[in-house]
Amino acid sequence: MSTAVVVGSGPNGLAAAIILARAGLKVTVVEGADQIGGGTRSSEMIVPGLLHDHCSAIHPMAVGSPFLRGLDLERYGLSWAWPEIDCAHPLDDGSAGALFRSVTRTATGLGSDDRAWRLLFERTTTGYDRMSADIMRPLLRPPRHPLQLARFGAPALAPATLLARLFRTEQARSLFGGVAAHAFHPLNRPLSASIGLGILTAGHTYGWAVAAGGSQRITDAMAALLGDLGGKIETGRYVRSVADLPQAEVTMWDVAPHALAEILGDRLPSRIEKAYRRFRYGPGAFKVDFAVDGGVPWTAEAARRAGTVHLGGSFAEIAATESEIHRGRMPERPFVLVGQQYLADPQRSAGNIHPIWAYAHVPHGYQGDATSAITAQIERFAPGFRDHIVGTEVCSTSEFAEYNPNYVGGNIMTGAKDIPQLVFGPRKTLNPYDVGIPGHYICSAATPPGPGAHGMCGANAAQRALRRLSYDNGSLPDNLDRTL
Ligand SMILES: Cc1cc2nc3c(=O)[nH]c(=O)nc-3n(C[C@H](O)[C@H](O)[C@H](O)COP(=O)(O)OP(=O)(O)OC[C@H]3O[C@@H](n4cnc5c(N)ncnc54)[C@H](O)[C@@H]3O)c2cc1C
Repeated sequence: MSTAVVVGSGPNGLAAAIILARAGLKVTVVEGADQIGGGTRSSEMIVPGLLHDHCSAIHPMAVGSPFLRGLDLERYGLSWAWPEIDCAHPLDDGSAGALFRSVTRTATGLGSDDRAWRLLFERTTTGYDRMSADIMRPLLRPPRHPLQLARFGAPALAPATLLARLFRTEQARSLFGGVAAHAFHPLNRPLSASIGLGILTAGHTYGWAVAAGGSQRITDAMAALLGDLGGKIETGRYVRSVADLPQAEVTMWDVAPHALAEILGDRLPSRIEKAYRRFRYGPGAFKVDFAVDGGVPWTAEAARRAGTVHLGGSFAEIAATESEIHRGRMPERPFVLVGQQYLADPQRSAGNIHPIWAYAHVPHGYQGDATSAITAQIERFAPGFRDHIVGTEVCSTSEFAEYNPNYVGGNIMTGAKDIPQLVFGPRKTLNPYDVGIPGHYICSAATPPGPGAHGMCGANAAQRALRRLSYDNGSLPDNLDRTL
């Protein structure tokens, strides 16, 4: 029986492990932290019974993941829950843009931008599953659905600032801009609209769901499935060298590129080692979890019913603050994302005390304390918020980098989303999962299709590994993606 080792138990590591175990390999996952899950961990932190997501919280990409959808993880305890409003973007005048799963309902609420919103999302949403077969893998492959991809690709190539001009109302512009800002990249750069369009289209198709019982349930369910397939997971085993690992035909690395260069060193071909060391990381995150009595007293009604609330004011203000953090300067009023997962999943609350998840976009490696800037942004759109706070738990930018070595400088995207890295991944090659050593593959969110708890980087990398292994063994399984 062939053997495989997977380093890292984030959604990508576990996705790779499941694919390899299903193909009949004996798989061991080695995780440095004491708890599995990487960016999907959740726990009680502030008040007993109050459940907080440490990292990822909102899951249109996971619900719509071509890989996860095929696993039937409901059998292992995963279920999704949806808020009434997916995302709200409040403005200073008390109004808000509101994103619903339905394109029609969203567009109708945007008044004179009804037509523009439909134009952008109606047809891409109808064909999302076909399109995701092309965008959830390395981009430089012959498309399977060229027409559908072209419908998405044409606007995705544009800078977000250009696409925002389609809209006349500030509600539509800022609603779009807040989602485009998820890329942690200046909104005036080409392709800066792509990540936002992907999240919006996935959301219009599958909704901005949360995992009932916390994001941890996603990787707990994956780990349980892996156990049924005979796979093992060992936690508390941080890998610093290949000598820390057992011999295996396949080794999958759910780690950041520079970490792989450190671990594999001169075993890597020197041009690949150099590329991994030169890999660029983007701005960071600074997170505050709140325990809030009675919830946040938002002025805008839509924000009171929304699972996610984006705080950054107008499109122009968000574009300016995202440019600032990219230049290494901390804005006074940073872009802040607020999660109210309890609205979809009430079991996360303790009576009338609710968990509020919030993080700000800050410069790479930010050393300051953004707690008061985050609190002030919430207070700006919810006067009186401070009086409702029962407790807080902070994860600073440098603490993020310690919490998970894949978040270099607090960059939770595992890499800057500039054009070369968005198109190719960790280095310029058509085979982004290959690291230049037979049997070794990189499968973290630094590889295509990039960040999110969708597991697709791991699934693609494992298919690549199987394809290479099958070539070696002369038996290519029928269901493999032969383009990987
Ligand atoms: C604050 C925050 C909010 C986010 N919000 C969302 C969201 O709402 N929706 C969404 O889809 N995504 C979100 N994300 C991003 C998402 O969590 C990541 O993109 C995703 O977890 C990446 O999965 P991964 O498997 O590549 O890596 P990770 O989940 O980072 O897992 C990597 C694992 O590898 C382990 N590891 C690394 N190096 C070693 C080593 N040398 N030895 C042993 N183990 C090692 C780490 O401990 C970790 O467990 C968010 C992330 C953060 C931090």
